[in-house]
Amino acid sequence: MDGFVKSEEAYERACSVLVGGVDSPVRAWKSVGGTPVFIMSAAGAYMLDTEGRAYRDYVGSWGPMILGHADPDVTKAIYEAVSRSASYGAPCVAETELAELIRGKFPSAEKIRFVNSGTEAAMTALRLARAFTGRDKIIKFAGCYHGHSDSLLAEAGSGALTLGVPTSPGITVANASDTIVLPFNSIEAVRKAFEEHGHEVAAVIVEPWAGNMGLVPPVPGFLAALANLCKDTGALLIFDEVITGFRIPEYGVQNKEKLRPDLTCLGKIIGGGFPVGAVAGRADIMNKLQPLGAVYQAGTLAGNPVAMAAGIATISKLTQTAYQKIEYSANRFAMGLKQAALSAGINISVSRLGSVVGFFFAPKLPLNLNAVKMSNSGLYPLFFHAMMARGDYFAPSPYESIFISLAHTAEIIDATIGNAGEVFAEIAEAAPSGT
Ligand SMILES: *Cc1c(COP(=O)(O)O)cnc(C)c1O
Repeated sequence: MDGFVKSEEAYERACSVLVGGVDSPVRAWKSVGGTPVFIMSAAGAYMLDTEGRAYRDYVGSWGPMILGHADPDVTKAIYEAVSRSASYGAPCVAETELAELIRGKFPSAEKIRFVNSGTEAAMTALRLARAFTGRDKIIKFAGCYHGHSDSLLAEAGSGALTLGVPTSPGITVANASDTIVLPFNSIEAVRKAFEEHGHEVAAVIVEPWAGNMGLVPPVPGFLAALANLCKDTGALLIFDEVITGFRIPEYGVQNKEKLRPDLTCLGKIIGGGFPVGAVAGRADIMNKLQPLGAVYQAGTLAGNPVAMAAGIATISKLTQTAYQKIEYSANRFAMGLKQAALSAGINISVSRLGSVVGFFFAPKLPLNLNAVKMSNSGLYPLFFHAMMARGDYFAPSPYESIFISLAHTAEIIDATIGNAGEVFAEIAEAAPSGT
């Protein structure tokens, strides 16, 4: 077969020139062990590896591929755009079109700036918040991921209310200590932090449904409390909807919860598989960006015409009917998985937001990072490898979400659930104490 190469060979070759053989660490399978498979192509709900094995794909490129891979309409739009050149470095109408599409669905998005990644979107949102408020500190929540910019790579210090400490070498203590890290879903912790530091806080940034520690929902009232505390103290509220944006029929969690964050970060789906991010929000804040304001931000390839075309084509296909179909499949998957585990005597907990699903080897759904860590994620590598062997590709880490696409038919879901039933039975045998 054209392009055929053993994964081990591809990986060894990659490792000699790419750091760890990959360009994003989780792809190296460190938390599940083994050699990553290399992908040759993908279509619909399937990915094909370089050895010719097909997998039902539950990663969806970590979120963007909500229509499935190589959707014909998206592909056509990309071809048409790229035939008019891959990049201009000058304004094009597609940028305005995608921005109008986003503003049409997100009332909070009065003004928009496109960037090249979710990381850049979050980084830019923080810079804007700091410039707008004249304050330095940021509140974030443990287990929420907002990309890898310096201020956001901080974790909670030892005391509940200590300032952040760097998560990675290369992050300065000063940078991390401007970041206050609190437990997700703890209104009390936020209230205390505001009592102590309220006048110094530029912004609270939050994933309104946390999708990077599995999928953890907000407890009722949590998001509204954040909005109120921010309003009282003049801090800005930033919703990072890079995963949740365009994921649900209401388009964003903010719309579903009837909240209006000051700034919103978008990414993933809005790029249709291309590197796109966006900051969106109040015009008076957004207009602080150059060229209108003084806050510097720029991008050689930002608003790239091919990426915009992919985003426009993707979003245009996300009709209410499309959302209904995806939700039906995602619900079938979530219920099926829970049932398959129960039948094997394993009590898992399952969460779902539209087409994104999380599951934990814990009977009770964890509501913050500590609880997530206490779930029996040690069983996950067993699950992962046994599912791979059956042709089901899940994320190579227990803390990632599962993404269902429009291309996942009931038959595809049922095949996976059937396999999961076998795998849960194997796990129950290997770890008879269950969860
Ligand atoms: C993926 C993600 C990001 C980072 O986006 P990149 O495009 O990978 O830089 C930021 N926030 C959230 C919530 C994400 O899931």
